Amino acid sequence: MASVTEQGAPARAASDVAGAPAAQTPLVDVRGVTLQYKTKDHLVTATFRVDFQVFRSERFILLGPSGCGKSTLLKAVGGYLQPTEGEIRLKGEVVQRPGPDRMMVFQEFDQLLPWKTVKDNVMFPLRATGLSRKVAEQKAMHYIAKVNLTNFAESLPHTLSGGMKQRVAIARGMAMEPDVLLMDEPFAALDALTRRKMQDELLALWDDTKFTVLFVTHSIPEAIKIGSRILLLTPHPGQVKAEINSLPRDTADGDPEALQELERRIHGMLFADAVEEPVQEPQHE
Ligand code: ADP
Repeated sequence: MASVTEQGAPARAASDVAGAPAAQTPLVDVRGVTLQYKTKDHLVTATFRVDFQVFRSERFILLGPSGCGKSTLLKAVGGYLQPTEGEIRLKGEVVQRPGPDRMMVFQEFDQLLPWKTVKDNVMFPLRATGLSRKVAEQKAMHYIAKVNLTNFAESLPHTLSGGMKQRVAIARGMAMEPDVLLMDEPFAALDALTRRKMQDELLALWDDTKFTVLFVTHSIPEAIKIGSRILLLTPHPGQVKAEINSLPRDTADGDPEALQELERRIHGMLFADAVEEPVQEPQHE
């Protein structure tokens, strides 16, 4: 049974935390974070006073409708955007810029360098940190094997399918052995079957290495499947609606009723405040 912390309630009871002892220091600590974009004509508030903490080896999901500020939050954790209010800490240090301790995987298939092979794409950031060619190559091949692309190490990105390109991007992120892998709807552009396969593969990778992942999605089933914990955000501007534990993996796989029940509850929470458009009555003369 998933437990729920509604907004305004104490952040989390110890029993509500999937694998996160109360005394443990959060790996990512987001406190009262408001994020805004200044455009020529407007000030867009993407998120408003958002709080959440991610602990080591969690699969933490940011879930909410399109435009609620999920990607913006992820970019802020990545250090690409500074909060106008509040602060984001990684291992206790305020995040001020991007760093190799936070690698991002995006939705787009064109995130690889098209003129470099799979292996060179994975090696590229490793080399940028000063690793020798030999060590970078060993590490790259290790992670390319983990995503089952050893036979494609010398291929160029344009010869790969969308799912394979996303695997390369995941290998590139993981090879850096970051503190947290930031994933922004990485499977959203894939067909349904490939998407499911990639979700399974990501979980198998997690079983193998227990990496910490902060994962953005607007899909409720994907959030339940991938996540150990799920942060629900309200529509624009994004505020925390609730934080819930996902289902244990064997329940999610083997108990369709429990899965449907949780999906319904999340849907109810996400859309509880949705205002129905008034029906326009035809005008009579
Ligand atoms: P989500 O990832 O939940 O779909 P985003 O974080 O992409 O939401 O966007 C949150 C809000 O911020 C939206 O209203 C969006 O239009 C706005 N926004 C996103 N990027 C920019 C930008 N570069 N300039 C201005 N507004 C932006």
